[in-house]
Amino acid sequence: MIPKIRSVRPIETAPGGINLLVIKIETTEDGLYGLGCATFSYRSATIKHLVETYIEPLLIGREVDRISDIWQLMHQNAYWRSGPIENNAISGVDMALWDIKGKMANMPLYQLLGGKLRDGIPVYQHADGDDVDELIEHIEQYREVGLRYVRCQNGIYGGTPYGTVPQECAKGVQAGTYINSNDYMRNTVKMFEKLRDHFGDEIELLHDVHERISPIQARSFCHELDPFRLFFLEDVVSPEHVSWLREIHNYCTTPLSHGELYVNSNDWHDAVVNRGVDYIRCHISDIGGITPALRAAAFADSFGIRTCWHCPPDLSPVSASAIINIDLALPNFGLQEWSGIETYQFLQQSGDHDVDAAMHEVFSNIPEYGNDGYVYGNELPGLGVDIDEKEAAKYPCDHPVTLWTQTRNSDGSLQTP
Ligand code: MG
Repeated sequence: MIPKIRSVRPIETAPGGINLLVIKIETTEDGLYGLGCATFSYRSATIKHLVETYIEPLLIGREVDRISDIWQLMHQNAYWRSGPIENNAISGVDMALWDIKGKMANMPLYQLLGGKLRDGIPVYQHADGDDVDELIEHIEQYREVGLRYVRCQNGIYGGTPYGTVPQECAKGVQAGTYINSNDYMRNTVKMFEKLRDHFGDEIELLHDVHERISPIQARSFCHELDPFRLFFLEDVVSPEHVSWLREIHNYCTTPLSHGELYVNSNDWHDAVVNRGVDYIRCHISDIGGITPALRAAAFADSFGIRTCWHCPPDLSPVSASAIINIDLALPNFGLQEWSGIETYQFLQQSGDHDVDAAMHEVFSNIPEYGNDGYVYGNELPGLGVDIDEKEAAKYPCDHPVTLWTQTRNSDGSLQTP
């Protein structure tokens, strides 16, 4: 007899000071449950409410093995569809059902997807510095632990910390994080000149524009970066300007990676069909979980486009495991973002407890960086990650106003963050 869904329960926790939301699905079979990730840190209380009020009553009593049917049912149930809030709630359920299916088959997720196409997942990590010397030092630390791909940034994506108003700003501007796009582009070109002088071709360099320039600026910026042979340039324009990607792509030789803000298959359709990107990098909980990620990857594959899923600290280890399992089995996997060690060290500075230890007390079987440039999965059935709810409760979530997204230009106007 196929087990049925008995409960769909959100679990909030913030062991790293970042709100994580995990969905636990319990079934009618004793001891059989699954975990999924519904983390959208800046709106997590809303998603928790959505799951408790609308999703759980919709799903109780349904057979756990009908993942595609349940995905579509959740997607169309409110009539108006898509968006990051709905998609994260759907993702929590979708991943938990894949976790359950893996446990029922006694196989890791990648086995259900056809088995391994590779043995380790090559990853890139993020390095920044207040000046190039500090950045070089940071990159050298990564090289010591075997990393071959590094995303290099000047300061915080070229902007000021929240609350710092540069002198050049117009009188009376509001509090925010400020960016001068022209300065940012000039400084970044100089940064890559120095990095290539220092490292030669020994390391693959990446960069994230974080959609902080206009499309016309993006076109010339990509062209100016061509001589530095970047592995790719990330999010050169906002998703609202995806129709510019083809023109930008045709004007430069720098490979483009796009899409951590995608929330709907229409968002990546044009970029893929018009061959305006080389890597799609959706945040898989924001598009609705494993099921749509597999479809997006297959669609991109038929156009020769690879994946590089978004994997920041504001997703749970459950998502990280889902991503690594997908990467192991995808023919058109490209590269994987990873925020393991470095992120925990960074979060450590702002917290009053050992963040790395706290993450491992709350979550077990987290996919780990192998100190050789690769991340490896946990080889356990389903997604393999488990959560200790008592430990999770020791790190309650807080819901402050989000500040870093209040990005502005020198004249005081808002800029996509
Ligand atoms: Mg990014």
